[in-house]
Parts: sequence; structure tokens; C-alpha cells
Amino acid sequence: MKFHVNSDCIGCGLCANTCPEVFSMTDAGTAVAAPGDVDGLDESAAKEAMQGCPVSAIESVTE
Ligand code: SF4
Repeated sequence: MKFHVNSDCIGCGLCANTCPEVFSMTDAGTAVAAPGDVDGLDESAAKEAMQGCPVSAIESVTE
């Protein structure tokens, strides 16, 4: 599964705290997701981050 942060992100930092393996904060103050495929424990944590995002800015792509 791949993850993507859209432009609704308000930069709260929650996803980067919940799953730093996938999400990180940019200098612009918003989050980005690592471009690669995520699986295993990282996928579980990334899904948790996705569900926890207050503005639902994280999208997942199943390939
Ligand atoms: S949890 Fe949502 S709003 Fe907060 S930094 Fe991550 S993508 Fe942005």
C-alpha cells in the first residue's frame, strides 16, 4: 500500500509522530509520505496515522 498526503494537510504533525517511518514534515510545515510501497508493521502504523489525521488529508493507494 502506498500513502499520499493531499493539500488539506494543516501540519499538525500527528502522522509523523504516529508513523515516522512513512510520514515526515517538510520545511513548508506540511507532511509528506515516503514514495515507496509500505507493508507490515509500517503499513499498520501508517493506517493508524491516516485514521488519526484531523482533516483526512492522508490517502492510500492499493496496487
Ligand atoms: S496528521 Fe494530517 S494534518 Fe496532521 S500533519 Fe499529518 S497529514 Fe497533515
